[in-house]
Formats: sequence, C-alpha cells, structure tokens
Amino acid sequence: MEKAVDLDVLARRTPGFTGADLENLLNEAAILAARKNKKQLGMQDAEEAIDRILAGPAKKSKIISEKEKEMVAFHEVGHALLAKLLPNADPVHKISILPRGFALGYTLQLPLEDKYLITKEELLERIIVFLGGRVAEELVFNELSSGAHNDLERATELARRMVCEYGMSNLGVRTFGKQNRQVFLGKDLGEQKDYGNVTADAIDKEVSIIFSKCYEQARYLLSKNRDKMAAIAKELREKETMEGEDFNKYFDLIKPEEIAPIEPPKTDQGPLFA
Ligand code: ZN
Repeated sequence: MEKAVDLDVLARRTPGFTGADLENLLNEAAILAARKNKKQLGMQDAEEAIDRILAGPAKKSKIISEKEKEMVAFHEVGHALLAKLLPNADPVHKISILPRGFALGYTLQLPLEDKYLITKEELLERIIVFLGGRVAEELVFNELSSGAHNDLERATELARRMVCEYGMSNLGVRTFGKQNRQVFLGKDLGEQKDYGNVTADAIDKEVSIIFSKCYEQARYLLSKNRDKMAAIAKELREKETMEGEDFNKYFDLIKPEEIAPIEPPKTDQGPLFA
C-alpha cells in the first residue's frame, strides 16, 4: 500500500509556496498518478511533483558513465552520512542520483520543525554536511569532480556569514560590511565595505580556519564510517532513489561510538566546537 499524502511533510518541503503554487503541485501530482492508472493520489506522486517543480523532470535518458554514477552516489552518501552522524543536522528525507535539471543527484534534509534561530554548532554542522560530497569523492576515488562547485560556494557563504554577520569568530561580536540586499527585488546589490584591508585579511583568515576545521571533521567522520558509506552507496546505485527510511535502516544497529561523542581531529587550530 502506498503511503497517503502527508500534508505536514508537504508543507515542510515547500516553504514559500503560494496557494497557486500548491494548486499547481497537486495538479501535477494528479497527472502523474493518472499516468500510472492510479485511483488515488499517493505520497510518491506528491514527492515526484515537488521534485519536478523544484528541479525539473528526471532525465532518465541523460547519458552518464558508470564511473560518474558511482562518483555521484558516493558524493550524495557523503552528505547524507554526515547529516546522520552530526547531532544537530536536519534528518535525511531522501537521496537521489536521478539527474534532474543541472543536478546529477541530490540529498534532501528536512527539519523536524520550523526553525527561526540557528546556533553556531548548527551552522558548523551545515558546513560539514556541505563538504561531505567533496570529501567522499576524495576518500573513495582520490579524485575531485566539479560536482561539488555549488556545495563549496554555499559552505563558503555560510562561513563568511558566521564571521561577518553573526559575530561567531575570533574577530569578536561585531559585524563587518553592510549587505545591500533588496529582498523584494530578489537582488543582492553587493557589500558596502566598512573596514580596512588589514581587517579584510583577518576575515579571510577566519573563514579559512572555519573551512579547514570543517573539512577535517568531515574527513574524520567519513573515513571512520567508510564501510557504511560503501554499503549505502551500493544500494543507492541500484535503486537510484532512497527514502529516509531506507537510509535509516543502516543505523538500526549503530554503535554509540559511531555517533557520539565526536572526537575532534587533531589540529593545530584548536578544537572545532570551542
Ligand atoms: Zn553535493
């Protein structure tokens, strides 16, 4: 029996959707269900409709080499595994290696509830999860692909915000630069610099420290859980899409030492979660 449409999950997957967007989503889901000669809408149809609207239809015909598929699978499992292992990261809802739009795969995390504030630990863990794809590629293939470009951009942006906007670095509690964001125009008009070159260098240094500590942490956790990573990547490779439940079953027998406490890697830059 297919799962019925879970309105709570739908709402969390579609933040910012208007009434008209939701109507469109349900129409799309109904068309997908009808194509399969189904009499009722199921959660699977709704999920597929969301994926189509957000990222474009799955391109089953897109030709990707076996090697690339393998790399994409490990890349996505790298993200998912870190999301599972880190105590404050949002749970994994779905992992897919079906190419859609420009993406070759994706890992979807969903918060358990709406969040309005985010702590330093949560931000650091988000950066670690972003870096997981690249680190997995490096560990398994000893090769780097361009697939991590967007992850690295988002991780850098978060690290910069921690330093410049949230006062979460050794530079102390002040902000650097005024962001000229015109939210209603959807434009980022760039930064108005209110600091000198020496401070600019210090900011860059802080960003690199956060970045390299997070990278080390990602490497440490993934190398410690390499077997699990390989097993999940194998299943993902065969099924192409894994729901959160399929993924979580690998952790039924998880040993406490695999999750917590996370032993920080040795670094000359001090502990990560200081
Ligand atoms: Zn990625």
